[in-house]
Amino acid sequence: SVFDRIDAVEDKVKAYITTEKASALAKAAEVDAKLASGEALFALAGIPVAVKDNICTKGVKTTCASKILGNFVPPYDATVIEKLKANDFVLAGKANLDEFAMGGSCENSAFMKTANPHDLSCVPGGSSGGSAASVAAGEAILSLGSDTGGSIRQPAAFCGLVGLKPTYGSVSRYGLVAFASSLDQIGPIGRSVEDVATLYSAICGKDKMDATSAVLSQHDFTKGLNGDVHGLRIGVPKEYFGDGVDENVKVAVYKAIDELKNAGAVVKEVSLASTDYAISAYYIISSAEASSNLARFDGVKYGYRAEGYTGLTDMYEKTRSEGFGNEVKRRIMLGTFVLSSGYYDAYYKRAKRLQQRIMAEYDAAFKECDVIITPTTPSTAYKIGERVGDILKMYAGDLCTVTVNIAGLPAMSIPCGSNEKGHPIGMQLIGPKFSEQLLFKAARFYE
Ligand code: GLN
Repeated sequence: SVFDRIDAVEDKVKAYITTEKASALAKAAEVDAKLASGEALFALAGIPVAVKDNICTKGVKTTCASKILGNFVPPYDATVIEKLKANDFVLAGKANLDEFAMGGSCENSAFMKTANPHDLSCVPGGSSGGSAASVAAGEAILSLGSDTGGSIRQPAAFCGLVGLKPTYGSVSRYGLVAFASSLDQIGPIGRSVEDVATLYSAICGKDKMDATSAVLSQHDFTKGLNGDVHGLRIGVPKEYFGDGVDENVKVAVYKAIDELKNAGAVVKEVSLASTDYAISAYYIISSAEASSNLARFDGVKYGYRAEGYTGLTDMYEKTRSEGFGNEVKRRIMLGTFVLSSGYYDAYYKRAKRLQQRIMAEYDAAFKECDVIITPTTPSTAYKIGERVGDILKMYAGDLCTVTVNIAGLPAMSIPCGSNEKGHPIGMQLIGPKFSEQLLFKAARFYE
């Protein structure tokens, strides 16, 4: 039925860079046979999942929506894919994204622009826009995205879905093409909290291939999700409800908070005073790491190599000039600049100091509350093309999501209504490190 849906709507939604119909149907038949023979099945057995195209899949093209990796076929699986295969999942296909996950609208893909299934004239959000659109359009049951500064939560909000950015270290990054290694996390997108908890349970945990992955005390997050919020202390930071946030978004999130209060939650104001500087810190740190991570794409080891060059330096220059899109080039230049001698102290080091301050503010806030609630995004989905020429406005769209990555925390976006045009609004639940179970339980209140 997922592939029938792909046949029916994919030419309009354009969620996938690659679809895997033949292998998916073969896998489904295998699971059917297991079922017929009475074998016990995993929760994810036979479930079609869309995987963001910056997560390596053995033998299946992994492009990062970039010309430079346009024909790259990984010889290995990312750890999350290995784990899902061990659970008999079905790979539906590889989902579109902003090139190398840099962007918030899916318009920076080298191949195509994905549309929002709720309104085809609008963006699905990004960078995991294809992952979100595929699920919202019924072209997948679940999907995997990656989140460096909001790329799971923001498209989940724009597409009316549930999306989890896990605690840094709780999911292995082995096989995720790195954007900003200290901020990147893979996470699930789905239509319900339970779906998302099921996929998260299958991918989380320590991995010897990723030294930053953590040993978890729990691996099954699907139990006890009863939505009981009685006595839950909810912190509301005023900095996330300021001028930059649309009125209809604020109203919807405040309304949701009121409902929690009526159900017995305790609501209090908390302060995250450095939020104003978070976007600057995020774009400095993430671009610095990106400029280093993307140095490997040089025409020698992977993918695309320019033709007609004279000598090695010319080959590098032509390959990278032709292979990378404008946004990726902008990040590489910005990152190289903030790391260069003479500017390092003024930009990179200050951004890292701000990171410490943001972490300390969260620590202080979590002494007063169990979870923090904010809008996921300052606005709802906007028209395709509307912000293309306005980079700062595009970056400002990350206002509510980037501090979570800077502090390494888990956060979830869940739907909380829609505006007058029917565009979904998302609300964000942020918890202390490794509090995923609490987030799932509280989020369940809304279903
Ligand atoms: N929109 C942000 C950026 O462009 C976040 C991207 C992400 O989380 N991958 O960097």
